[in-house]
Formats: sequence, C-alpha cells, structure tokens
Amino acid sequence: MAESQRVDILSSSVEELEQLMISQGVPRYRGRQLFEGLWRHRIANYSELTVWPQALRLSMETAYPLRRVEPSRVQEGHDGTLKILVKLFDGQQVETVVLPHDYGYSVCVSSQVGCNMGCHFCASGLLKRSRNLTAGEILDQVRLANDLIQERGHVISHVDLMGIGEPLDNYDNIVKFMRLAHDPAGLNLSYRHFTVSTSGLIPRIYRLADEGLPVTLAVSLHAPTDPLRQSLMPVDKAYPIAPLIAACRYYSEKTGRRVSFEYALLAGVNDSDEQARQLVDILSGFSCHVNLIPWNPVPEHPFTPSSKNRVEQFQRIVQEGGISCTIRKEMGQEIDAACGQLRRREEAKVSP
Ligand code: SF4
Repeated sequence: MAESQRVDILSSSVEELEQLMISQGVPRYRGRQLFEGLWRHRIANYSELTVWPQALRLSMETAYPLRRVEPSRVQEGHDGTLKILVKLFDGQQVETVVLPHDYGYSVCVSSQVGCNMGCHFCASGLLKRSRNLTAGEILDQVRLANDLIQERGHVISHVDLMGIGEPLDNYDNIVKFMRLAHDPAGLNLSYRHFTVSTSGLIPRIYRLADEGLPVTLAVSLHAPTDPLRQSLMPVDKAYPIAPLIAACRYYSEKTGRRVSFEYALLAGVNDSDEQARQLVDILSGFSCHVNLIPWNPVPEHPFTPSSKNRVEQFQRIVQEGGISCTIRKEMGQEIDAACGQLRRREEAKVSP
C-alpha cells in the first residue's frame, strides 16, 4: 500500500483527488465529489458519501482511511468561547479555540505540536515542537469547529493561525491549508478573513508577501527595543526589530493589507509611557495596527498583567502618535484561553 502512504486525503486539493481517482481507474469527477463531501458536507467517513457507488466507498475505506481530528475535551466559557483539546491521528494533542464576535465566529487553529520559538511569556513554548501539522490537520480543526457550532446556526467565517506553533515555521503546510480552505468547492473562506501570526521570521514574511494571498499578517512584537525583545523572545537575536519592520512594510506594500502588531502588556516590563513612545517611533510612517493584549497569566512565568489604567494610558499614547491601536477583548479567561494552557494541563495529568 505504498501509494496510500503517499496520498494524504485530508491535505489533498480537488486536482490531487481527481488524479488519485484517475490512477485508480475511477472517473475524474469522483475526486471533486470527495473534496465536497469532506469539506462542504463534512462527512465523518466514506459511507456517508452516498453519491459514490458502494464498491468505491469500501475500497477507499480500506486503502485510504480518513484520519479526522477528534475532540478529546471541549470547554465552554460564559462568553460562548469554546476551547477544544484536539487529538490528532497519532495521539498527539493541540488546541483549537472558537470565538464568537459581532460579525460571526472565528477559529484559532494550531499549526504545530508544541513550539520551538521559546517566547518567555507563552504557555505553548513550554512544550517543544514535536512535529508540524499537515495542511489537512489544520483544515480539519476548522471542520471540527463548524461541527461544534452548527447547533448555534453559525459557520466559521474567520480563521486565525494563532494557536500552538509558529505558523511560518510550517510554511508549505499553512499555505496549502489556506488554499484548500479558500476553495469554493469546500469551505469557500475569503483570503481576507485569514490572519497569519508570526514571531517574526523575516525571510518567510518576504516569501508570504510574494505568495499572492491577501491575508492579514500579525507580528508578535511585544517590545519596542531589541534588548528587551530579546529577553522576551529569543527569535529577536536572529531577526531584530529594524529589519523585521522593513519586512512588514514590504508585506503591506505588496499585499495592500495592513500589518497588525501584537503587544502583550506585562506590568513593569514593557508598559511604560516611554516604551509606548518608542513603539510609535518604530512604527510611524506605514499603514499598521497595534493590538494590545491584556496578558493571561501562565503560572510558570514570572510576569503579571498590566493594570487596566496602564493599558488604557499606553493605548492613548500610541493613538496620539497617529497609529491605530485597540485593546483585545479578553475572552475565555476562565477556560484556560491562553494558548497552550489546556493541552499542558491535560498532559501534566498523564505525566509521571
Ligand atoms: S508565542 Fe507563538 S511563537 Fe512564541 S512560543 Fe508561543 S506559540 Fe511559539
């Protein structure tokens, strides 16, 4: 069954599934039917693909069993947030978060099992990367989110690649994921409704800018100077702030999309008036947005969140500097909504 090992059904495009069908002596159009079944109709297994003859359903079940992701735990917050611990086919776990908004529902998906970037304020980075997720595993998190909110009469309209992992460290799979999710035969999601976050992998930002996908880029900045940023984010040693901002300007010019800068406010660390003015200085002169994040405490890290007054004062200074700046709504705090917390707690239960 060497071929079945090479073909990953959930990561396949319409054209790839059509080629698979042809290679099996089956009419090409069965490939599109399978793609539509997987992503538009969200079949759980081939037996639900009733437009197919039974013999084909059985032979595909044997040769290419579907390996959907599964929820191993779902927590619901009072604000409607869903935090899902997702089990992958090999038993590894990641997190997916569904968030209700005025405009509909978004899902925050994971792109890697663990993360190697080692940001010092992050729960996910406490578990090192053990592997990348496939395009199909990322896409199937959106399918799972849709399954869970269908009883609310909604579908996912926006996707944030902001869960566990550094998305641009899994570049090929996240780009393929977005192309698959955009396909009108499947989820039909607008590229403009995707946000790709990064800790600042400069070469990959340039590559994404040239990819021709008008998706939003969200850069985790968290500090206005290199010494401070390096103390929070080791990635800054390889990719410091000045060339990072230059890459972001290129991204904005190339895609026409405003770049978003994420800034988690940590009391006494990066939240002073002076640091707000430094932030204005480094970001002035191009179309961008600052997203201030009230930090969700992680027990293993020494930081404390900035006070509400401090957050508002910081926002005021950035706005007065002519830069668009909002404070992210705190959602799902009572359900471990800080990325990586739920998975880490579950794994701690099974650790010796
Ligand atoms: S903040 Fe993002 S890039 Fe940094 S360790 Fe956490 S998951 Fe990785």
